[in-house]
Amino acid sequence: MLNFDSVAMRYADGTRALDGVSLQVPAGQFCVVLGSSGAGKSTLLRMANGLVKPTQGAVQVEGVQIAAASLARIRPRIGMIHQQFNLVLRSTVAANVLAGALPAMPTWRALLGLFSDAQRSKACALIESVGLQEQHLLRRVSELSGGQQQRVGIARAFMLDPPLVLADEPVASLDPQTSHDVLSLLRGQARERGTTVLCSLHQIELACEFADRIVALRQGAVVFDGAPEAFEPKV
Ligand code: ADP
Ligand code: ADP
Repeated sequence: MLNFDSVAMRYADGTRALDGVSLQVPAGQFCVVLGSSGAGKSTLLRMANGLVKPTQGAVQVEGVQIAAASLARIRPRIGMIHQQFNLVLRSTVAANVLAGALPAMPTWRALLGLFSDAQRSKACALIESVGLQEQHLLRRVSELSGGQQQRVGIARAFMLDPPLVLADEPVASLDPQTSHDVLSLLRGQARERGTTVLCSLHQIELACEFADRIVALRQGAVVFDGAPEAFEPKV
């Protein structure tokens, strides 16, 4: 489903963020990339949707190599969930979730915000499925709690039924209980749809609880790749 083939990343200032990482994520897997700050998690996730171009190696999504020419085809197939939610705070919950459909719409429809009835129903259904109620639909996102905002982020990510979701530290700005609830929700939504998820985390306990597979990164290299039961943190 997602294949990193000996990718390396050296930023313009000389920082080596990743060094020869190979990773194949099969369809339907909830794969957690675990590592402390600076380990290379974001760089890896950003390579999977073409935001970072590897200085060596290649990345394929559903067998299609990521390149400038294939991005328009690949992007609508990938849902994104961010640490800081990346929602439009002044807009409503409904508008933010509908925005998840934009990558697949003709530019003029997208610019005019012309969503179909089917898209609107879908957004409502998703909002309900992430545990928000009808009263939240027209609420501004800025009035919601962090946990609720990330629920909106998850609903938006699933708007196009993407086969792949990338979640970059989705719970890093939430308290422990909310982190637990949000990861539970994300995993549940993914299981229900058979979605492949690549999710970065820095908390070992959360990784062990929610991952089908843990890939631990340290200074840009894979130091563990296996089932959570086999993971033994080394200090
Ligand atoms: P820190 O520097 O904060 O201790 P590291 O960057 O060393 O964190 O490690 C990142 C993650 O990878 C941590 O969750 C750590 O437990 C795990 N890890 C580090 N080294 C190994 C190893 N040799 N085998 C398995 N897991 C490891
Ligand atoms: P993580 O997500 O695990 O915190 P990152 O992928 O963000 O790790 O960063 C890996 C390394 O690359 C770090 O040393 C970071 O400082 C560096 N880095 C990330 N982005 C850039 C950039 N745009 N320019 C230079 N260095 C960067």
